[in-house]
Amino acid sequence: GFKCGIVGLPNVGKSTLFNALTQTANAQAANYPFCTIEPNVGDVAVPEPRLNTIAEIGGSAQRIPARMNFVDIAGLVRGASKGEGLGNQFLANIRETDAILYVLRCFEDDDVTHVENKIDPMADYETVETELMLADLESLSKRRVTLEKKVKQNDKDAVQTLRLIDLAIPLLEDGKPARMAKIDDDDLKAWKMLQLLTAKPVLYVANVDEDSAATGNDYSAKVFAHAEAEGAQAVVISAKIESELALLEDAEERTEYMEALDLKEPGLDRLIQAGYRLLGLQTYFTVGPKEARAWTFRDGWTAPKCAGVIHGDFERGFIKAETTAYDDYVAHGGEAGAKDAGKVRQEGKDYKVKDGDIMLFKFNV
Ligand code: GDP
Repeated sequence: GFKCGIVGLPNVGKSTLFNALTQTANAQAANYPFCTIEPNVGDVAVPEPRLNTIAEIGGSAQRIPARMNFVDIAGLVRGASKGEGLGNQFLANIRETDAILYVLRCFEDDDVTHVENKIDPMADYETVETELMLADLESLSKRRVTLEKKVKQNDKDAVQTLRLIDLAIPLLEDGKPARMAKIDDDDLKAWKMLQLLTAKPVLYVANVDEDSAATGNDYSAKVFAHAEAEGAQAVVISAKIESELALLEDAEERTEYMEALDLKEPGLDRLIQAGYRLLGLQTYFTVGPKEARAWTFRDGWTAPKCAGVIHGDFERGFIKAETTAYDDYVAHGGEAGAKDAGKVRQEGKDYKVKDGDIMLFKFNV
């Protein structure tokens, strides 16, 4: 599955957040209890209001949300790239993720030690990012040596890779993460093959105290300013509140608790949705009397490829897909109404599925 790594210094609230994500008692997750792959990998339901609407209109007995993974990556301290703390293990864990959530401590609490003895989320961010940049620099320098030999033998792929490495190294040496590099479409594949830690998309998570959960605070404002300058997203959350919310099973109790704190929706929902977008994921739906279900695909995927998410046979035997846009489905009160209005399209194998499409695949077995 697609994975977001939760990264940050010790004592910033990573585990609190991870536990909230995986323990959440919200209705969507309840049908699909947290399943443990590894202790630090959480399989999480993606909150999706459109799924509820579709299920209501379609009279579906069950709602099955899309899912994604969060990984709690502990052990980063200053010097990790040189093997301090959990060093290499930590870096290997990050390498396996598709995107990074930087959890930054934006709360004061004298009872919770700060490893650098000062609350400064942007300094924390730089400490962590520096370790990742050093790790990238080291792996690039190593690869460079082998590649130079191949370039001398006129290996075309090696020429391309070396060119990309020589673009990344000065950037990193200048203290900039590899995601800042402008990469042409033709180079994207080779660029991804470099597997750079700092090339992964990032989301900034400002973990604030309970009183600032709805508004943010001066610390989180700095995080947001940085994110904006970088063109990245940021989310304000209070991990502590979320961990308490996650334990409340009663929907009314949850609503009351959120109202008392001026929260419109659980911060976790915003965080999960932001993580889902960060991974570049989109959703299409299937709907029937038994279940309404959200399925995950990537931008640009064709109808057969999307059908393959459900089952390989759907892709191999693909004939066509009856397709209804979400807005049309809702506006016409469901499939029958949409059909009468001429809003159900017959799409073939070249159709690129759009976020929110409601699909019914026709296939040969
Ligand atoms: P990790 O080392 O980054 O995984 O941090 P933890 O999640 O273990 O949190 C470290 C300590 O900070 C724990 O005692 C948490 O209860 C506390 N903590 C986490 N988030 C918050 C918060 O938003 N406010 C306050 N006051 N304490 C928090």
